[in-house]
Order: sequence, then C-alpha cells, then structure tokens
Amino acid sequence: MKIICVGRNYADHVKELGNEIPEEPVIFMKPKSALLQSHTPFYYPEFSNELHYECELVLRVCKNGKYIQERHAGNYYNGITVGIDFTARDIQNELKAKGLPWEKAKAFDNSAAVGKFVDVTPGLNKKNINFSLLKNKEAVQNGNSANMIFSFDALISNISNYFSLNIGDLIFTGTPAGVGECVVGDILEAFYEKDNLLTVEVK
Ligand code: ZN
Repeated sequence: MKIICVGRNYADHVKELGNEIPEEPVIFMKPKSALLQSHTPFYYPEFSNELHYECELVLRVCKNGKYIQERHAGNYYNGITVGIDFTARDIQNELKAKGLPWEKAKAFDNSAAVGKFVDVTPGLNKKNINFSLLKNKEAVQNGNSANMIFSFDALISNISNYFSLNIGDLIFTGTPAGVGECVVGDILEAFYEKDNLLTVEVK
C-alpha cells in the first residue's frame, strides 16, 4: 500500500505559500509508516519547530490499474474521507530552498492522518464536496472539491501514467487555503460535509 499526495491543487493555497499554479499535478508520496488512524495520538516530531496541518480529501483506491483514462477513473476509487497531511514547514522550506526532495518534511511517521471512509455512491456529486478543519473548535480551513485545479478523475489518470495504482492505495488530493501551525495540546477535527470523520490530538 502506498500514499500518493498532490501538492498545489487549490489556487488559494498556491497563493498563500507563494508558489506558481502548476500545469501538471505536483505529486509526492508517503510510506505506509506515515499512516495514522483517527483517535490515535500524534506525537509532535522532534526535528521540527513549525508543524503545519493541511486538511485534504482522501480517495481510497479499489482497483488495480495503470494508464487509466480520465473517463474511466471513477471506477478506481470507492471511498472518500478527510485527512491531514502533516508537514514540517520549516524543514520543507529549507529543502525547497536547496532544491532537495521533500520526504523529511512530509513523509515522516504518522504524517498522513486518515479519517473513516464514506462509500462513494452513484449519486455523489464529486465536484461539490465540502470539507473543513477545526482547531480547538475554531474553523481554520474550509474547502470544496469544486475548487480543485485537477479533479479526482484527472489526478487518477495523471498519477497512473507514472505509478500503477493498487487496491488499498490512498490519494491525498491537496489542501485549500488556511494551512497553519499546530502545537502540542491542539485538537484537530476534520469534517466531510457535516460529519466529523477524523480527530487528532497533538501530543
Ligand atoms: Zn498537502
């Protein structure tokens, strides 16, 4: 199982970090050891002094495939939830400045928190899913899948040109604006529409 993540997929977030709108999806990966289930404690990483939350919609892959055409991409995932792509922003900024890979900042243990999955039903409008993040009961991020630069199906198709998708893989589809710092003691609650599917306490 692998965790594939998409960067810079919401224009408002691209702007807040001072990046350019990508012409192709920006892709990175996290290993299986990065996975964190809801209600499992998250320990603040020792090597960072600036930990950020990034709330994202996450897809669960249900079919093996490669070179998937966009019009067939909907058959390759059967679950959606909210997740948090934890990022050591200080480390990421250092790595970016040197043109080095991001893994130390993005792929560390427990950096991919994933909520309880909602089944994808035929009636679901994938282009109008609201999601949000509360930090200590205060709203810090609000997103809607309509604002993604690359849709779920476009992402699946693009990713599968480079990496075979396998049953059980997870895809983090990018974060909207409002990313920010979290510290020890913070409680993060991620919502898919009105449902709280993921809760993480920073220890
Ligand atoms: Zn992210």
